[in-house]
Amino acid sequence: MSAERDSAVGEQVSDGGRKTAKAVKTAAAGKGASASAKKAAAGKGTSASAKKAAPAKKATAKKSPAKKAPAAKKPAAKKAGPAKSSAPLKKAPAPRKQVVAPKKATASVPAAPAKTVAAHPRGESRTALVRRARRINRELAEVYPYAHPELDFENPFQLVVATVLSAQTTDLRVNQTTPALFAKYPTPEDLAAADPEEVEEILRPTGFFRAKTKSVIGLSKALAEQFGGEVPGRLEDLVKLPGVGRKTAFVVLGNAFGRPGITVDTHFQRLVRRWKWTDETDPDKIEAAVGALFPKSDWTDLSHHVIWHGRRICHARKPACGACPIAPLCPAYGEGETDPEKAKKLLKYEKAGQPGQRLKPPQAYLDAGGRPAPPLGAG
Ligand code: SF4
Repeated sequence: MSAERDSAVGEQVSDGGRKTAKAVKTAAAGKGASASAKKAAAGKGTSASAKKAAPAKKATAKKSPAKKAPAAKKPAAKKAGPAKSSAPLKKAPAPRKQVVAPKKATASVPAAPAKTVAAHPRGESRTALVRRARRINRELAEVYPYAHPELDFENPFQLVVATVLSAQTTDLRVNQTTPALFAKYPTPEDLAAADPEEVEEILRPTGFFRAKTKSVIGLSKALAEQFGGEVPGRLEDLVKLPGVGRKTAFVVLGNAFGRPGITVDTHFQRLVRRWKWTDETDPDKIEAAVGALFPKSDWTDLSHHVIWHGRRICHARKPACGACPIAPLCPAYGEGETDPEKAKKLLKYEKAGQPGQRLKPPQAYLDAGGRPAPPLGAG
């Protein structure tokens, strides 16, 4: 199965943490809800017709004798039609190359809302943007009611280690590797005292295994020595751990401590720009811009929804627009495959009837027809 490399996050969370990890359950459990089938993705294209195309009469030479420009002496187009000539025309509202939104998003995916909402980021008011952004999130919540972190973990220690290991590889590969690691070294103290060579052997499938071994042993030592073997729940403590940057810290805070956070990974960055939620490119600025569109309480789930959509449908190279449930809300519709049948073939994971990334997914995912990932070497 192919899976793009996924990396973690970026977020701003207020600190003041506790050392308990009650919220692990929430994150690990995912959300229940049936993966209902959705409404059809209706959408009419805004065939920005050329109705208003300026009459080409202005293009005659008479009109602008002084100009050097070859006054396109075309027979004035009497009929409407985009005046293509080089003559200065009045601002004919340039027909935006909007693509006709799909009538119906197919796919074995829950489909989109029946109502069509024109996506018009250009000149979109702040209020309209907020509404459109929130509506996308609501639609995605229906498409992925079981969205959850895709790293397997049972406690904050496992999550911080798994997140460090997820650099430059897929969550699937990490999930296939960590069972052996945590079986042998279940606590920070165990991993802190491990023989690096043995750890390297276990971590080899994740790539960069020597550096990762150093990081996980180092962070385990720090946890054991400075935090009593507990993962701290504060950003400023987390980022001091070896191998833990802000991105990893935010994954841990958001998913193991229940602190709202926006996960600005590669999928998140790509999708929010496609949706014109922001033009920012810096992860911290993206996080701030998107965070301002939603209540804080939505941030963590929003991150899951967006990332899940990026992994399954709105891929970097070939977004499956023809099978996308939110196509009517998306200004980038048409950037990918619009043919429903062809688009359907681009879907991934449960949307394509394939196994997911977690070996131990939440029950809600299984209830919705999702399948666990196979163990390492099993396929
Ligand atoms: S670019 Fe295509 S696949 Fe991505 S959200 Fe827009 S319509 Fe959907």
